[in-house]
Amino acid sequence: MTKQQLMVEGVSKRFGGVVANDNISLSVPEGSIVGLIGPNGSGKTTLFNSIVGYHPIDQGSIRFEGAEISTLRVPEIARLGMLRTFQQTRIYDKMTCVQNMQISVPHNKEGFGAMFSKSHPKIMKKADSLLAFVGLYAKRYLLAGDLSFGQQKLLEFAMALMNEPKMLLLDEPTAGINPTLINGLIDRLKRSNADLGITLFVIEHNMRVIMDLAEHIYCLAHGELLAEGPADEIRDDQRVIDAYLGAN
Ligand code: ADP
Ligand code: MG
Repeated sequence: MTKQQLMVEGVSKRFGGVVANDNISLSVPEGSIVGLIGPNGSGKTTLFNSIVGYHPIDQGSIRFEGAEISTLRVPEIARLGMLRTFQQTRIYDKMTCVQNMQISVPHNKEGFGAMFSKSHPKIMKKADSLLAFVGLYAKRYLLAGDLSFGQQKLLEFAMALMNEPKMLLLDEPTAGINPTLINGLIDRLKRSNADLGITLFVIEHNMRVIMDLAEHIYCLAHGELLAEGPADEIRDDQRVIDAYLGAN
C-alpha cells in the first residue's frame, strides 16, 4: 500500500475578500511525482505557501508523514524534510555557484554551528557532487549572475538538494526557460525522484512538461479543486480544458 507523505484536508485560505483556496483536499504519496495545475490566479502558489508554513491557514489540516504541520513555520517544516522553491529564482548573483551551495547548508544541521562550518570538507564535497548532478560542475566557480537563466534554475534546484529534502515543492520550475533546456531540467527532476528518492510536488503552467513529469495531477480553478486524476485523464478532461481556455 502506498504511504501518503503529504495529506491536505479541507484547507482554506483567504486574503481579505479573496478566497485564494477553498476547502482543498489532496494527497501526495511517498516517492511519487504529483502535479498541480490551474490557470493564473487559481491559488496554486497560495496552497504551496500554506503547506510549507509561509502563512497560517484559515481552516483545515495539513499532515506531513502523519504529523500535523499546519501550525508550524517554514524553518520547522524544512527541518522535517519538506522544502519549496520559488517561481522567481532566488540565488546570489555576486557569489559563485559553490558559495551559493554553501549558504544552502541544511536547516536540519544548523545546530552543529561552528563545528559544522559551511566550508567543512563534507559540505564542499556535497556541493561539488550536487553541482555535477545538475550538470554545473564545470561552472562551479563562475558567478551565479553569469549563468544563463536555465542554469540559474538548475543551481537553485541543486541548492534545494543541499538540504537533503524528503519532499520538494517546485513552483513553476521551467518558467522562463528556453524550450531546448527544459528537457534537461525535466530529466534532472526525474532523476532526483528516481535516484535520490525525493518526492516531488510540482506546480507547472506548461502542460507538456507536467504531462511528462507527473503520474497524478490536481487542477485548481478559482481557488477550488476542479479535477484530479492520472495525467492522461486530466489532459482530456473537458473541465480542465475549459478552465484553461476560459483563462486566456
Ligand atoms: P496562482 O499561483 O495559481 O497563479 P496565487 O495563489 O498566486 O495563484 O493567487 C490566488 C489568488 O490569491 C489571486 O487572486 C491572488 O491575487 C490572491 N493572493 C495571493 N497572494 C496574496 C496576498 N499575499 N495578498 C492578497 N492576495 C493574494
Ligand atoms: Mg503562482
